[in-house]
Amino acid sequence: MTIDIKIEKTTSPKTKPETKGLVFGSKFTDHMFILDYDHGQGWHDPRIVPYQNISMDPAAKVFHYGQTIFEGLKAYLTEDGRILMFRPTKNIERLNLSNERLSIPEIDPELALEALRQLVLIDKEWIPEGEGTSLYIRPFVIATEAALGVAPSLQYKFMIILSPVAAYYAEGINPVKIYVESKYVRAVPGGVGTAKTAGNYAAGLKAQEGATELGYSQVMWLDGVHRKYIEEVGSMNVFFKIDGTVVTPALNGSILHGITRDSIIQLLKHWEIPVEERQLSIDELEEASRSGKLEEAFGTGTAAVISPIGELNWQGEKLTINEGKTGELSAKLYETLTGIQKGAIEDPFGWTLEVK
Ligand SMILES: *Cc1c(COP(=O)(O)O)cnc(C)c1O
Repeated sequence: MTIDIKIEKTTSPKTKPETKGLVFGSKFTDHMFILDYDHGQGWHDPRIVPYQNISMDPAAKVFHYGQTIFEGLKAYLTEDGRILMFRPTKNIERLNLSNERLSIPEIDPELALEALRQLVLIDKEWIPEGEGTSLYIRPFVIATEAALGVAPSLQYKFMIILSPVAAYYAEGINPVKIYVESKYVRAVPGGVGTAKTAGNYAAGLKAQEGATELGYSQVMWLDGVHRKYIEEVGSMNVFFKIDGTVVTPALNGSILHGITRDSIIQLLKHWEIPVEERQLSIDELEEASRSGKLEEAFGTGTAAVISPIGELNWQGEKLTINEGKTGELSAKLYETLTGIQKGAIEDPFGWTLEVK
């Protein structure tokens, strides 16, 4: 099958920003990808056009009922000038799982990959150089039909935009302080917690605000039914090293199945470090902390890759982890995963895809 993507290049390229000090997701490249969907016709007219505003009817369903999903992945420039994407087919797979949950029609995975490839190549000059930098890729789908009836939209747009990002850690990886949320919940079984859909993030802002006011950088969510089992941290999955074993909450139907999470589990298994995916209660964690068995904790996600956790606040009690310092395993995982992503160390898993 040949995939024909129409290309309209910009006639007025923007000035590229300095990478240093760049705020995450604040600058966008010269081009974007668009694909339309119309009921009866299917997905059609794949095209790359100059980055620009889009015009929409105020009744478009996405504004009223939140029928929308997104993805997030990165492209990297290697030392020897190659461009690598990290596990893009996993993101496309998850894009379609989110689509399915939100009653959005499936997108041809081959077309999506080809769109990523061509868009990244057209704007390759925007991929920053240097340690820790990358080009963040944001694919998303919005329901565009102008109609206020609550029903799946008959029209959609699938778009991809690109944003150059600076190193997440300007001065080496640093542990964060996390507030364990007991009032609000993020998701429940049967809900949309496993989909990367806008409403999950809007619903989390209130708790995030409260944590920020208290001096914490993110919240840790507990399950919505028992309010007892650990789910995830902000927009990251979470891991704990307890008495030599690495434990992460199992994919229980309400947490997001992170691709970084999956990569970390595979790396740990490769290193023969015991890793368990299971239910983990906040009581068990508190007990492990009291008895000195809680050795390390870290969040995982595309943006930060690994974010060590130095303190957890659970109902006013402060659990300090590894004296508030980055753990040895957290640092090793960070070095290895970012090394593979940047093409600096060998990739025994076949995770990176060269874009050319
Ligand atoms: C995106 C996301 C993650 C991390 O997923 P990655 O694929 O590792 O980037 C974890 N939790 C939530 C809620 C997310 O939105």
